[in-house]
Amino acid sequence: MTHTGSGILARLRQILAPAVSGPAMLAFLPALTLATFWIGGETALLAVALGLPVLMAATGGFSKLGGNSQPRDPVTGMMLRNGFEQEAARILTECNEGGLRSAIFIVELDDHRELTDRHGKEAGDRFMQHCGAQIVSALRQDDIVARISDSRFAVCLAPTLQLDLELCIQLAGRMQAATEEPLPLDGTTIYMTSSMGFCQHSRVPGAESAEWISAAAAALSEAQGNGPGGIRAYSTDMPGRTGSRSTLREEAAAALESGQIQAWFQPQICTDTGRVSGFEALARWQHPVQGLIPPSTFLPALEEAGLMERLSQVMLYNALVAIKAWDDAGVSVPCVGVNFATQELRNPGLAGRIKWELERFGMPAERLCVEILETVMTDQPDDVVTRNILALSEMGCPIDLDDFGTGHASISAVRRFNISRIKIDRTFVMKADQDPEQQKLISAILTMAERLELDTLAEGVETAGEHALLAQLGCGHVQGFGIGRPMPFDQTLDWITAHEAKVQDAPVIGRQTP
Ligand code: C2E
Ligand code: CA
Ligand code: CA
Repeated sequence: MTHTGSGILARLRQILAPAVSGPAMLAFLPALTLATFWIGGETALLAVALGLPVLMAATGGFSKLGGNSQPRDPVTGMMLRNGFEQEAARILTECNEGGLRSAIFIVELDDHRELTDRHGKEAGDRFMQHCGAQIVSALRQDDIVARISDSRFAVCLAPTLQLDLELCIQLAGRMQAATEEPLPLDGTTIYMTSSMGFCQHSRVPGAESAEWISAAAAALSEAQGNGPGGIRAYSTDMPGRTGSRSTLREEAAAALESGQIQAWFQPQICTDTGRVSGFEALARWQHPVQGLIPPSTFLPALEEAGLMERLSQVMLYNALVAIKAWDDAGVSVPCVGVNFATQELRNPGLAGRIKWELERFGMPAERLCVEILETVMTDQPDDVVTRNILALSEMGCPIDLDDFGTGHASISAVRRFNISRIKIDRTFVMKADQDPEQQKLISAILTMAERLELDTLAEGVETAGEHALLAQLGCGHVQGFGIGRPMPFDQTLDWITAHEAKVQDAPVIGRQTP
């Protein structure tokens, strides 16, 4: 490999900088001055006194101190977004001038909000401290690490001669594994996953460090679009995600009207019979250029545009059309779950509209399961929300309490709202077959549900071990990637046929032959 004179200079600067500007230099400074005086007398002392500041300035030592004087995150002690942008700009210039390489990585914890909802802000902070320290431990000393939002860290690698895609992927995997190291907290163990996007400096779409950071963020959105725990590298065909919020809002609104946003369906299985007990309708945006966009990207935009009600109309219509089609095909799908956000539940006309739709399709209300978030009940629901939920349950719609365990719903509220089933949140299910603490929590929830005569469903079941354990503990239904991922309607019939065939072939456990 060839490199220019300025490349060698930059490399030299990179090697010398930590030595002459780091804490080691401060520690040895008195000894150095004494030794210089003994060996070379006053002239040598003068040369060192004047030479050292010059050397520090030349190696960027002062600018590094300047970066340190930026405001820092009180929780992790790390630099914040502004400081990071400055450091990234410095590194970008060094790379461009010196023929060196670098990359920016953005890491986001997949369930940070759920973690703070469930365990409180202090626990969220402790987890960010833990993750930050883990990320730092996976990196070299002069790489830059910052906390750029509540749940995101950004990393900019110190310029180096050798860095290719393969190395970036390996490093991303190492940092991801570091963040996923479980944290013991208040007698339980917390498991988290993280997603990661990165952009190599040679692929930065513009000339500014902000564009570099946005490109890494676009890669992160892409990773999150493929489920938690993903890693993606930035490529030039991901430009749209770097667009402004208002553009996203307009695009999402247009997509909703043109039918690009549709329901996908994720199967739910009854643990007693092994058969399909329902599907959950989940919104997906099939973008003609950018591919599949997850709800985490477009729901906030639809919410800002006041279009959640329109979304629920589309989802309800898709769900009812799907039930009709399954019935016509002769397959048994007892129920479809549709999600309703608080904003929609505040619409006084909601229950009436759903009743009208059900009648239009000639569909009994028990085929439509209404999913409401546990937080809807803890946010002190107003009269309209309460009336809507009660009216829907009186009509005969089963009510699922979503993300149970994250929002501190009171038992009396569960009763008041006529909840028929609780959906145990994914954070309780993760690694439940290996962790006795998780098992204790699930057992406690199942016991409570049994006393209250509520049905139960566990979300986010990813492995056969988790599935078996939940069945054994007496959880009524399971849903998760381990059973089936959300899929477009067209794939559901094949999926159901294959699943039913598997159930018939499976040996029946525990039943006596007559
Ligand atoms: P949710 O209602 O809790 O939906 C379950 C989410 O978990 C879905 O993410 C699903 O793809 C994901 N998931 C399912 N099984 C697994 C698994 O085994 N492992 C993991 N790691 N994840 C799993 P999705 O589709 O991205 O939806 C995210 C959230 O967006 C939903 O969470 C729901 O709150 C909201 N949402 C989705 N569609 C709609 C909608 O039509 N209306 C409203 N109001 N909210 C929606
Ligand atoms: Ca749901
Ligand atoms: Ca959920």
